Parts: sequence; structure tokens; C-alpha cells
Amino acid sequence: MNTLHVVLAVAVALLVTACDQRSTGSAVAVSRFAQEGEGTVNSWIVEDSENLIVIDAQRSLSAGRDLADDIETRGKPLRAILITHPHPDHFGGIDAILERFPSTPILSSPLTQRIMQNDENGFIALTKQVLGSDAPEKQTIPTVTFEDGQELKWGEITLIADERGVGEADSMSIFLEPDEGFLFVGDVVDNGMTSFMMEGHTGQWLLQLRNIRTDYAAEDLVVFPGHGPRGDTSLFQEGIDILTWVRGAVGDRLNDGLNEREIDEIVELYEAAYPDRPAVAAVPNLMHENIRAVAKELSTN
Ligand SMILES: [Zn+2]
Repeated sequence: MNTLHVVLAVAVALLVTACDQRSTGSAVAVSRFAQEGEGTVNSWIVEDSENLIVIDAQRSLSAGRDLADDIETRGKPLRAILITHPHPDHFGGIDAILERFPSTPILSSPLTQRIMQNDENGFIALTKQVLGSDAPEKQTIPTVTFEDGQELKWGEITLIADERGVGEADSMSIFLEPDEGFLFVGDVVDNGMTSFMMEGHTGQWLLQLRNIRTDYAAEDLVVFPGHGPRGDTSLFQEGIDILTWVRGAVGDRLNDGLNEREIDEIVELYEAAYPDRPAVAAVPNLMHENIRAVAKELSTN
């Protein structure tokens, strides 16, 4: 995965902060913190009148500091940081947030904690290589784990943890705010971007998406993805369509792998079918790498 080296490098140079503050009469408000540019990634700031939590913690220490600035201006105690899955673009800023808000509990599923602890896919080491001093010397891992179905509560904020297993990453946690109808899905889907398929589990991911679409069918749910603006449950069908399309395009051409011309051809067709979708990771030619990973996945199954 050499191309990943160049990765996140670009993403460090992100400049502008996007915020889509919601102002409603609800007890719980959600704001998006994201730095625009290639590889933009969301932290969702969830607050009631007296409590604040953050879901996902940015990719780099500098982005983590900017997020900490944002949290500080809100004047509420940071009660917890929740991590949706073990990809570094969602936790690389933890240590910078902890510098400002020491001893904040970091929560994840036991599996996400274990994968981070052992850096099982090498992504933490890779990110350190790419980001240098903008990545922590030693990544802080979650200090508290939640179980599948556990209800987490801070004042009026309730989140029900739902473990969905292997998908975009090896361990995917989603959270439902049942009173507000908010669903935080990490990278189960993104909104308007090109996904990261390089872990090569698109078959399981597709199954996961179909199950989530069924389990969370209510049309008025607000869906908060790991990348891109908030959306609704139609994002699940869109995710299914895209993964199905990619797997179909690869499968149709697959015999003894794919040659470069075939890969280029699929990328071109993808860009025509799904135009103007920036990459969720600053991997050069992410879609080419996705197609290689899917070809490998399909030929070993
Ligand atoms: Zn991500």
C-alpha cells in the first residue's frame, strides 16, 4: 500500500473549517467540524444545555487543536470522545484534544480498541510516516469500551451503541440518538464523496449496508456520516448502489486480475456515473486503488 504513503500528507494542509450548525428547538444539537479539502473528515459535536461530546477526533494533531478551539468556544464540559472505527483519520487528533481537556474518557467498542492498540492494519504507523510531527508520538487509544446495545447517557444526550462488525473497516460502531432521530454512522456511508474500499471487504460492507437500511428504515432519521454533510437514510441505498456498481464493473472484467487499461476504464466509467466526488482519503488515485482492492477481494472469494 505504498500509495497510502502520500496519503494523508495532503490532508494535513487543510485550511477552512466547515460548520453546519443546526438551530432547532431540540434538546440536543449537532454541529459538524470538518476541515475542507481532500480527505475532509467529520467530527460531530453533540451538545445539550450542559454537556458536550464529540464523535470522532480528526486525522492530525493540528486539526485536533482546531477542534479543541471550537469545543472551547461552546463553554461546556467535554464529557467524552467517541470513536466510530479504527481508521486514523477518525482518531489522530485525540491527543491534541486531551491536551486541552485532560482526562476526557475516550470510548470505543472493544474491537476498535484492540485494533488500535495493536495497530493491526499498520495504519497508525503509516499515518505517522506521512504526517510526521503532526501525528502523535504514541497514539492514545480508547480508555473505556461500550458493548453492543449499550445506552450511553450525558444529560439529555442519549446514544445507543450498535456494533455492526466488518464493513469499511474491520470494526464499525454506529450510534442512535433515539429521542432526536439522529444516527451517527461513521464510514458506513459518506455523503457525496468517493469511499475508501482498500480494506477489501466490500462484500461484507454491502451486507452490512443492507441490514442497516432495514434496521433504520424510518425516513425522518438524520444520518451523520464520517465524511460529507449530514443526510438522510437514502444515503444507505446510494452506498449500496455504488458498491454494487464497483463490484459489478470489476467482476465483469475479472479474469486473472485486471490490467491497467481495464482499471483506467472502470475509473472513467465510475467518474461518469458518480461525478464530482472528492476522495475521503488523500490517497492519490484512490479509485484506482479501490478497484485493485476489489479485484483482489473478488478473485480470492
Ligand atoms: Zn474515514
